Amino acid sequence: MPKIIQLSTHVANLIAAGEVVERPASVVKELLENAVDAGASKITVEIRDGGMTFLRVTDNGCGMAPEDAKTAFLRHATSKLRTAEDLAAISTMGFRGEALAAIASVSRIDLMTKTAGAVSGVSLHLEAGVITEESEAGCPEGTTIIVRDLFYNTPARMKFMKSDTVEGGRVSAAVQLQALAHPEVAFTFIRDGKQILSTPGTGELEAAVYCVYGRDSARMAKVDSRWDNYSITGYVSKPTDARPSRNMQTFFVNDRPVRSKLLMSALEEAYRNQLMVGKFPACVLHLRLPANAVDVNVHPAKTEVKFLSEKAVFDCVHYGVLAALNKQSDRPQVQFKPAPQPTVPAYKPAAKPAPKQETFFRTMTAEEYKNFSAAVKEAPKPTPAAAAATVAAVEQQSVPLRESVFIPKPTPVAPPPAEKEPEQTVMPMPEEIPWRMVGELYNSYIIVEQGEDAFLIDKHAAHERILFEKLKANQEAITSQILLTPVPVQLRADAAAELLNNTALLAELGFEVEEFGDSTVLLRQIPMDLSPEGAAEAAETIAADLLSGRREKKDTVRDEILHTVACKAAIKAGWLNDSKELLALVKQVMSREDLKYCPHGRPICVSLSKKQLEKQFKRT
Ligand code: ADP
Ligand code: MG
Repeated sequence: MPKIIQLSTHVANLIAAGEVVERPASVVKELLENAVDAGASKITVEIRDGGMTFLRVTDNGCGMAPEDAKTAFLRHATSKLRTAEDLAAISTMGFRGEALAAIASVSRIDLMTKTAGAVSGVSLHLEAGVITEESEAGCPEGTTIIVRDLFYNTPARMKFMKSDTVEGGRVSAAVQLQALAHPEVAFTFIRDGKQILSTPGTGELEAAVYCVYGRDSARMAKVDSRWDNYSITGYVSKPTDARPSRNMQTFFVNDRPVRSKLLMSALEEAYRNQLMVGKFPACVLHLRLPANAVDVNVHPAKTEVKFLSEKAVFDCVHYGVLAALNKQSDRPQVQFKPAPQPTVPAYKPAAKPAPKQETFFRTMTAEEYKNFSAAVKEAPKPTPAAAAATVAAVEQQSVPLRESVFIPKPTPVAPPPAEKEPEQTVMPMPEEIPWRMVGELYNSYIIVEQGEDAFLIDKHAAHERILFEKLKANQEAITSQILLTPVPVQLRADAAAELLNNTALLAELGFEVEEFGDSTVLLRQIPMDLSPEGAAEAAETIAADLLSGRREKKDTVRDEILHTVACKAAIKAGWLNDSKELLALVKQVMSREDLKYCPHGRPICVSLSKKQLEKQFKRT
């Protein structure tokens, strides 16, 4: 048996370094946390060669007295944690007293630090964790740490490093994260002599988000909600600005960046039925809750959290985001000119972040929209009796879909019949009604005029959303029709099996499927609102949904299927619809604030003001 020996401090530090110091970005993270803990209001990070050869962090925080500066590099040296009890209430970010020791053990370090009011500061040089030079130094208040030649004495670790570009990119992300975590601190980041990021440190999250995300952030919705001693603040993207991945989701719990499935799903639940499959919202969200309601894993490299009450956290985030999205009663803007590229110009707090762009379509203010939709709700029904009946039918949520007015006329773009009198495109309305349906463009977009505003409604998107809401409101099984000739649907073997494994769910959705062999299924019954071809397509989509693993949540699958049914049953762009049908649709869209996006996240209605139009014609 080999003899048991105690590891030397240096070896112990190297082991700790393996945990804490993975790459330049993790060094920067630790140094930034220390600077924030030291109360700095201004922090500058500079790196060269991805941070491998040179990495400097300068802060204007409290600094260290000469003796403390030397102690700081010893393992388990911390000023933030004295007793076991401190662990429970600790609110600072790094507190294992290991970071400096670990970083020092795998690099060459220069430290300059001075406390407030001291006559002079101290300068230290360390090689592989050992102090080799020490001198009095005249330096500004605060601390500067330079880390050179990272992993020079651990070639094995060095091998794991990626290119300077990749490592530098990770450092950049680490600085951005801290900038978003601490809008009260002015961060500057310089990479190979070029300034990459500079936040104003005004304390407004909006400013920090703008500097990190660029001009795009001006379109985000502001979240600001509070329940008891839980609060959620920050910014979330609108459904139309969804991203192809979750990369742009940033969560902080009590100012600490975390990764959490719970927070992610609470966020995404707020977007349910508003996003296309494979699209994700972007966010910067700060959750604040009492320290004893959260357990942030003390492992320095991990960013996981545990919550005392998952439900309280979920609700806080979910309803906070939902409130922010619903407050956005504005219609999406259609831009007349393409927006300028979102480079990241300096943030100017005085001027509003979004420079006034030449937008053709204008967003209604919440106030305008409220007045507008209230007026619409009170408006008398259109005079022609047929139109009134149509409207009533659409409004009656309980009517089976089949009986609602929209019987699609799948006549693809044919010229309108000559005998149509102009009266059918221009719907006369009684005086008191605040809006007027003007007509339709390209058999796709309905034009509505109201006072000084005009609206364009995408008829397919609007109808799809209305049908979807109706299907969803109806908790019972979907009415189906029995087919005289069953429809065979050829699928991949696994897809066919998936459908046959879910016959009960499918029955609730109005489908009866039967095995037909050769990975083909037979549709014997299909939802009332689908044509046989539509049903076959829907069955394929449903099989794909089921296969993609979203089967755990029955609600989600049901919603997905309802999307499909609604989409297939809705009138299509290019179809001819008579003005009564269109009018019924307009009435729904104009009176319901919740109808903003189709179930796939496309806008239903955009607005255009008279002023904007006059500007385009140079009348003003
Ligand atoms: P921890 O942050 O867990 O306490 P570190 O090894 O990161 O451990 O830092 C050790 C100690 O050094 C800190 O507790 C703090 O007292 C001091 N320190 C480190 N960086 C700074 C800084 N930038 N300004 C002032 N003090 C610092
Ligand atoms: Mg630390």
